[in-house]
Amino acid sequence: MREKQILPVVIVALTGALVAVIALWTLDRVDSSQLDRPQNDVSEMSSPTDVIEWKLVTTWPKGLPGLGAAPENFARRVNEASGGRLRIKVFGAGEIVPAFEVFDAVSRGVAEAGHGAAYYWKGKIPAAVFYTAVPFGMTAQEANGWLHYGGGLPLWRELYAPFGVIPYAGGSTGVQMAGWFNKRLNNRADLAGLKMRIPGLAGEVFDAAGGSAVRIAGGEVYTSMQTGVIDAVEWVGPYNDRTLGLMEVGEYYYYPGWHEPGAMLETIINAEALAALPEDLQAIVRIAARATNTDMLDDFTANNSESLQILLRDFDTQVLPLPDDVMDALYEQSQVAIQALVDADPMAKKIAASYFTFAEKVRAYHEISERAYLNGRDRLLPPVEVTAE
Ligand code: CA
Repeated sequence: MREKQILPVVIVALTGALVAVIALWTLDRVDSSQLDRPQNDVSEMSSPTDVIEWKLVTTWPKGLPGLGAAPENFARRVNEASGGRLRIKVFGAGEIVPAFEVFDAVSRGVAEAGHGAAYYWKGKIPAAVFYTAVPFGMTAQEANGWLHYGGGLPLWRELYAPFGVIPYAGGSTGVQMAGWFNKRLNNRADLAGLKMRIPGLAGEVFDAAGGSAVRIAGGEVYTSMQTGVIDAVEWVGPYNDRTLGLMEVGEYYYYPGWHEPGAMLETIINAEALAALPEDLQAIVRIAARATNTDMLDDFTANNSESLQILLRDFDTQVLPLPDDVMDALYEQSQVAIQALVDADPMAKKIAASYFTFAEKVRAYHEISERAYLNGRDRLLPPVEVTAE
């Protein structure tokens, strides 16, 4: 009796399964045959003539890891995301224009894009220093908050608008090192007469503190140290300083980077070239720039840590903290330099108001978040050995 009741149910189920299998197979056939057919009329398809080619000039030596990798990654991301419709070719410093002419080249349309550091343009645009580094200013995390959610980026756009250039955050190195010195620093008097490669507002601070700031592009710093043209150099940190070989020409490696606590780089685009792109390609440029910005800090965080270990282990690098008296002198002169900049330039005043208002708020929050956490962690974990005696 029970078998008679079950059999029809099994037959119905098997029949159903067979119908389903045939239906799926048929659907699959239909899909395949549709894929074989052109999706659009041939006249609507992309042709090689639709490919847009851009030149991107940088302030970095070609092939430099870290700083130089950022524009290469930006170009690769745009090329990939656009399916090759927008192809960006990257040129190192000196290949089309010298390092310090990158901004002008993008402004004039000699190149559609550029990558560098805003403080290199301070002779032309004094307020640009806020978009690389402010001595004793914000860290990378803080500055990115200001740029993207605290009003910093719209002011940057306003600053560059007269030049037909659109800026994007182009990466950050995190806190840099104070630099390589061929003289031991005991107090502020030791800064007197010291010739140092140190750009931006910090260069003015270094001059005022008794030193002599020299403006030299990355490609020349090694030779300048080696030949004694300069006594000290700040470049970036363990990762990029190691790639330039600075541990071979500098004796003492001082920290922290008071002058570049979260040095930001920039990706700059010629405004007309950007406006001429279809909207989807404009979006790809924006998104690739943002991705490059984030990615660079990750690169530096990982590779600075790795390179510091290599410097300590393989090169016996003497890592030293700047004495408090030197830090005090640099801080005092930083305040003077920032005030002079703000007094002399209306845009600097406007940007400084936004920057320092944000900086004070984030400092209060980081007192109970980042700093409290790092202090709490350090109290519990074994001490780390870095500083030389
Ligand atoms: Ca630097």
